Amino acid sequence: ADFQSVGLIVGVTGIVGNSLAEILPRSDTPGGPWKVYGVARRPRPSWNSDQPMEYVQCDISDAGDTLAKLSPLSDVTHIFYVTWTSRSNESENCEANGNMLRNVLTAVIGNAPNLRHICLQTGNKHYIGPFELVRQSPTARPAVHRGLCPELDYPNFQYNLEDILFEEAAKKEGLTWSIHRPAIIFGCSPYSMMNIIGSLCVYATICKHENVPLKFPGSKAAWNSYSNASDAELIAEQQIWAGVEPTAKNEAFNCSNGDVFKWKHLWKVLAEQFGLEYVEFDESEKEMSLAVMMKDKGPVWDEIVTEKGLVPSKLEEIGIWWFVDLTFAGEAMLDRYE
Ligand code: NDP
Repeated sequence: ADFQSVGLIVGVTGIVGNSLAEILPRSDTPGGPWKVYGVARRPRPSWNSDQPMEYVQCDISDAGDTLAKLSPLSDVTHIFYVTWTSRSNESENCEANGNMLRNVLTAVIGNAPNLRHICLQTGNKHYIGPFELVRQSPTARPAVHRGLCPELDYPNFQYNLEDILFEEAAKKEGLTWSIHRPAIIFGCSPYSMMNIIGSLCVYATICKHENVPLKFPGSKAAWNSYSNASDAELIAEQQIWAGVEPTAKNEAFNCSNGDVFKWKHLWKVLAEQFGLEYVEFDESEKEMSLAVMMKDKGPVWDEIVTEKGLVPSKLEEIGIWWFVDLTFAGEAMLDRYE
């Protein structure tokens, strides 16, 4: 087949990687027809086996493995970098994430003569600082651009990634980039390190199994305030657009759905979908933590997997409770454009 473009999705089983792998091969996708390479560490899962792509199992934190697996992909025209890693503090995050991106760019830029564009996904941490800063003062985040706020003068792996991107992209003439900054992502991937809706569905499934109401495990501020989300498909489409549209080069973009919602609205839908009793936020109850509530539910999940014949999974992989707890700790940040 004659391909117009060749996409390398780094993090293909992740929450946006999976949407990119769905959308790129479609016949009406801009820039197409696309050939797709998809990179992740684990073996290819059964749940994405219908996506037309060449799956490349590779650990991009390992420079040797990355060079061996990615340098032969000499027909790549576009890189979609939709992955990350989480370490115990932000300085380590900077180093580990920086190495991963550099390993990929080093292996591809010098070996893919037709490489034209690199999409880098970061996120709203660009504006509010890394999670460890958010945890220190959850309510008063400034939400401004890099360099504009002394409070954000703090290590941030997303800043490092930008710097590496600029440096590496400058090495090849005509090579362009775009940066994409979503808010919390609503998407579909059991392999994501942060999947809020997936985690809530697992929680709801456990409530259903145990025949208890679906209580909201968060703060009143999160329940009542306006929130903002980014659909994975929208982010994927924005990245593809930036990759093919000549006027979208060398820019950073926010990316969110453009409407707002409240968790209490979503809660009704979630309860309905799972046939659970909807309960309002109860101020008299002390605040709950899903990490605590779900601590011993591993065996319950195993039971559900067997009973319903689900694709096998471990509760700790698909119920990302720390992320739900953090999201529900306080008011959400809405996008600001300045
Ligand atoms: P996910 O956690 O959803 O996906 C990560 C993907 O990368 C998976 O396919 C994973 O598969 C793969 N991967 C992880 N480590 C490696 C490795 N060493 N080598 C090769 N593949 C690897 O990613 P996100 O889309 O969530 O994250 C991308 C960016 O988006 C991050 O900067 C994040 O902060 C940001 N973001 C995310 C939000 C969200 O709600 N998820 C919200 C806003 C921003 P495997 O484990 O098999 O390797």
